[in-house]
Amino acid sequence: MTVIEHLINGKRMAPDPRQQPIFNPSTNEELANVALASRATVEQAIATAQASYPSWRQVPPVKRARIMFRLKDLLERNADKVCALLTREHGKVLNDAMGELQRGIENVEYACGVPELLKGEHSRDVAPGIDAWSEFQPLGVCAGITPFNFPAMVPLWMWPMAIACGNTFVLKPSERDPSAALFIAELGLEAGIPPGVLNVVNGDKEAVDTLLTDERVQAVSFVGSTPVAEHVYTTGTANGKRVQAFGGAKNHAVIMPDADLDNAVSSLMGAAYGSCGERCMAISVAVVVGDTTADIVVAKLSEEISRLKIGDGMDNRNDMGPLVSRALKEKVESYIAQGVEEGAELAVDGRGMQVPGFGNGNFLGANLFDRVREGMVVHRDEIFGPVLCVMRVDSLQEAMDIIDRHQYGNGTCIYTRDGEAARYFSDNIKIGMVGINVPLPVPVAYQSFGGWKHSRFGDLHAYGPDSVRFYTLRKTITQRWPAGGVRESAQFSFPSHS
Ligand code: NAD
Repeated sequence: MTVIEHLINGKRMAPDPRQQPIFNPSTNEELANVALASRATVEQAIATAQASYPSWRQVPPVKRARIMFRLKDLLERNADKVCALLTREHGKVLNDAMGELQRGIENVEYACGVPELLKGEHSRDVAPGIDAWSEFQPLGVCAGITPFNFPAMVPLWMWPMAIACGNTFVLKPSERDPSAALFIAELGLEAGIPPGVLNVVNGDKEAVDTLLTDERVQAVSFVGSTPVAEHVYTTGTANGKRVQAFGGAKNHAVIMPDADLDNAVSSLMGAAYGSCGERCMAISVAVVVGDTTADIVVAKLSEEISRLKIGDGMDNRNDMGPLVSRALKEKVESYIAQGVEEGAELAVDGRGMQVPGFGNGNFLGANLFDRVREGMVVHRDEIFGPVLCVMRVDSLQEAMDIIDRHQYGNGTCIYTRDGEAARYFSDNIKIGMVGINVPLPVPVAYQSFGGWKHSRFGDLHAYGPDSVRFYTLRKTITQRWPAGGVRESAQFSFPSHS
């Protein structure tokens, strides 16, 4: 059986005995074993990154940028290979994998501008003969810990910018589908990143906890579920690190009675069921204003669901592939059972569906709950599967109150033709990313990404301008070169312009 190893100092290795199998979600066939790094192995990766830092930080930003240009080119030329690896282990449909990878490449494109992004801020003559400026210096060794659901894109949110800013990096991808991240890191080395500047360790909690407690690691970026995000944030900050940790979500779409309902419904279909609902920006709740509108929306959704094509992710004719694991499928099914017990109306039941030729896969049809109410577990929890809940309300304010009271605050959207309602919604809703007639308002690479409330721990958002700030330390220098022979007298009052 193939072993998916670590990449440390430019070499593949797996010195530890602990391993775990990786499965093809369409068949549950065992594909490989992934090595699970021990503390000692992670320490080896950190030591390599630490040793590579002094010379890497001296490389001019323009040269680091050229490596990013080459990486972008290599990613584009190897896109089919990356996506095949990704789909084989994750299950998402190839076209969807291609979209994910493209979003990742856009982060590399943004990192290509790092000489401009690191220019700093200059103030001449802050006092007679005195100039002051801020520059943005790298931190040292940074670490990234990433989830299963975006195996290519989320690592690309992190290490290209960290490295372009002059840091060195240790990545710990999801142990459920690590191959795409490992292959992309190797493309990074091929693009010219020196061995040791970028390292990958595969593993589980032991690897993560080593990264969180080793004093040589300066900063940690995490993306995953909320309980782990909270653990990463509290442990990392208690150990003196800069930490940004992005957690789970429950994203609501508000459907106003004046919306273009055909467009709203097709948007909801993609946003709720694309990637089997395994997206932190998936829409999992539609809050529909008015009973008449809700009846139409539920009827149209049910009809659209009956046309969904579900099957192996390698076949681009499918809309939805399998869930990543049997365990997740069982968890989602138990949420569906609980929703029924709680009194929600299961308008479409996707359980028990069979894909011919893939009887052993983790397939689950699309599920639609109607008349879901606040307080039900299917509304409170992130299900992370193909389950859309419809809630019926009488007003926009009622919809907004439900959204604001929810523990998560990642994304939301509103479907309406009323500009005043849309503006009121985006001004006041307590959510980090808002769409107006846009179902998945995932910011582009030159903005930044981040939710509010229990969807994010830490200050700065992911990628875009915030990532330049996250992966650098501001240093402000004030300078005077007195003219020769000028005698300066001692000043005992605080320097000011008064
Ligand atoms: P997860 O929290 O189980 O795992 C994420 C990472 O943490 C993995 O690398 C894993 O090895 C590690 N990990 C898991 N348990 C750990 C523990 N007890 N201690 C230390 N490390 C641990 O998440 P997942 O199931 O891989 O991903 C799905 C979750 O990620 C969902 O909740 C989804 O909403 C969230 N997510 C959030 C965003 C965002 O930007 N907010 C983006 C993508 C995914």
